[in-house]
Amino acid sequence: MTIRSEWRARLQEVHKGGLERSLRPLKMISSTQAEMNGHRVEVFSSNDYLGLAQHPEMREAWRGGGAGSSRLIAGSRPVHHLLETALEEHFGRPALVFSSGYQANLAVMTTLFRSQHTVGSDRLNHASIIDGLRLGACSVTIAEHGLFAPDVDAHVVEGLYSMDGDRIDLMQRPDEFLVVDEAHSVGALGPGGRGVAAEQGRRPDVLVGTFGKSYGASGAFVILDEDAKRLLVSQGRSFVYTTALAEPAAQAALLGLALATDERRGLLRSKVDRFRSGLNDLGVEALGEDHVVPVVLGDKTMAASDSLIQQGIFVPGIRYPTVKKGTERLRFSLSSAHTDESIDRVLEALSLCLS
Ligand code: PLP
Repeated sequence: MTIRSEWRARLQEVHKGGLERSLRPLKMISSTQAEMNGHRVEVFSSNDYLGLAQHPEMREAWRGGGAGSSRLIAGSRPVHHLLETALEEHFGRPALVFSSGYQANLAVMTTLFRSQHTVGSDRLNHASIIDGLRLGACSVTIAEHGLFAPDVDAHVVEGLYSMDGDRIDLMQRPDEFLVVDEAHSVGALGPGGRGVAAEQGRRPDVLVGTFGKSYGASGAFVILDEDAKRLLVSQGRSFVYTTALAEPAAQAALLGLALATDERRGLLRSKVDRFRSGLNDLGVEALGEDHVVPVVLGDKTMAASDSLIQQGIFVPGIRYPTVKKGTERLRFSLSSAHTDESIDRVLEALSLCLS
């Protein structure tokens, strides 16, 4: 079989299994409204939890050029250092910024653990953690969701799980080495938006956060101690061998940190409460208790998603292999920018399509 015929065979299989993914352009009109194929839709699937991505100041911040090279070659700009200083002040420990959370997780997993280490990884961890652990040299024990594995050198978990919308107990095994990926929680949850670990009183050895979700920008950061930072700068291949975070993205990230206020977090919480209590009144069960609101509908998911789109609500279905077969779901993401009216509209549309 030639390379190209193998592609075609695989594509046919993906298509036949109903698993082909496609890209749908959404032209954003505001933080939560978009135009899709000439129709107005209310977006309930973005990770822009604090409504910052379309903020007028944020749009202004996106000015400037690319970094031109890796930070170690000629790409380390004053704004990268400003951003790391701001993070250090906010989180109380050294910080290193990355071009994406995916790259940050690759660097952490491949650089901080070696062949003599066994790492416990929660069964529901994000693909970037899984890929980083696979690419690295350490042994991996897959832990039941929410439970830290016994007899390992370190645990890797998430602060708020992006597909189940839940938080786990981070205070178990309090003296053991812990990495927490707070991609969906920093900015939105915890004291000053410092995440779920801070809320639970646990100081993880390594915290990974992204700027592309609550902070409304792009890029990511790792909070860690000075030795770990020095190792990542010297040996983290997805830090060393890639073009640095573009200056406008770093500028936007700095602004995002400043705009992620308690007021916005409070507003987000009120939207979450309104939506979750509306679901409860409809008798619709949702997972978790925060701004990621998964509603598991199994094989009815894609039809429900299509029906919602026809009613002007954009929530793509989440299906295998992102989640297990039989647990396909609509994953609603709430934003502080959603209006009460739009939340009531989505509840009404959902009740129609589930009746
Ligand atoms: N970690 C988690 C838990 C995520 O959900 C994501 C999602 O994108 C990432 C890391 C990757 O972050 P980024 O989008 O900045 O690459």
